[in-house]
Amino acid sequence: MATVAAYAASAAGSPLTRTTIERRQPGPRDITVEIRYTGICHSDIHQARGDWGKGLFPMVPGHEIAGIVTEVGAEVTRHAVGDRVGVGVIVNSCRQCHNCERGLEQYCAGGSVETYSDLDHYRGDEPTQGGYSTHIVVDEHFAHRIPEGLPLEQAAPLLCAGITTYSPLRRWNAGPGTRVAVLGMGGLGHLAVKIAHAMGAEVTVLSRSPDKRDDALRAGADHYRTTDDPGTFEALARAFDLVLCTVSAPLDVDAHLSLLDTDGTMVYLGIPEKPLSVGVFSLLPGRRTLAGSQIGGMAETARMLDFCARHGIGADVEVVPAERINEAFERVLAGDVRYRFVIDASTITPR
Ligand code: NAP
Ligand code: ZN
Ligand code: ZN
Repeated sequence: MATVAAYAASAAGSPLTRTTIERRQPGPRDITVEIRYTGICHSDIHQARGDWGKGLFPMVPGHEIAGIVTEVGAEVTRHAVGDRVGVGVIVNSCRQCHNCERGLEQYCAGGSVETYSDLDHYRGDEPTQGGYSTHIVVDEHFAHRIPEGLPLEQAAPLLCAGITTYSPLRRWNAGPGTRVAVLGMGGLGHLAVKIAHAMGAEVTVLSRSPDKRDDALRAGADHYRTTDDPGTFEALARAFDLVLCTVSAPLDVDAHLSLLDTDGTMVYLGIPEKPLSVGVFSLLPGRRTLAGSQIGGMAETARMLDFCARHGIGADVEVVPAERINEAFERVLAGDVRYRFVIDASTITPR
């Protein structure tokens, strides 16, 4: 066991404060990662505030981790000391169910284990603690090489926001000739724009206000419309093959389904705390699909990182010291982030 510095919420809704946690002694297939940067995902805020009605406290959030390997177990084959690696939203799964076998560890039939606020039932219910800390010990299968050319602070958010948007774009065949709308231009949204554009799709951003227009066009959007203008929904009726919803709050699902053309799909990525309501009459015309998608598997995450490196895609980040985590949470909630806060882990020091 090693004692490491971290920031934790002691109870749902309480501010994050400096603390220490224990990391396990690395086993034969484990690596130890010295964390350099961790992104602040909106899910961290939902979880630390108990929005989803569950959560294990004290909670060290953080599942967009980038760092350097400092130690490898005797059976580790994929990583070496000194490698640049990333860790995302899950840190274990059964490895043998039909989903794990086809690289969908996030949908493991035996239950995948989340990077924080979870108990690793494959390891005797060991509690998991995330990346708002200086080191993490993880099975090598759940760590990814970060390609050269991707700065670590820009790569960290790819481990959740990047794969969460890349995976549905691939699954629903975004590419030349497809019309993709991205709802919400935040952490997920701005990466969805960059990735969909790099895949060759025609990309439209739908945002609440005109404020992010220039950034959206710079990220690769072809069009930008505001959702507070009711004319938008009329003008864009049946205009898309794929709508990615990255909005963290509830919205009018029926109005957004009307944007889909025949056989179009709206994929839910954002996780509002309350259930959605949807009228079946919004689905029938045009044989529309309403779907959901959760992060991505390990092999696909590796492909996503290579894709992003090839296309020069990283997150637009504002690096903050750990003492500003609570302020960053407030700014994300206020929509005041362009487009991902990333914690400089060297500022996480012992109490
Ligand atoms: P974020 O940076 O806060 O972005 C969310 C965006 O949603 C905002 O930038 C804003 O875009 C829009 N928005 C926020 N409040 C809104 C409101 N009241 N009405 C309409 N639009 C609103 O958050 P994020 O980190 O990208 O995460 C987005 C959501 O995805 C969260 O719910 C998170 O938990 C979830 N998530 C899911 C997965 C998954 O596996 N499915 C993975 C990661 C995150 P505009 O200002 O452009 O309108
Ligand atoms: Zn996340
Ligand atoms: Zn499994």
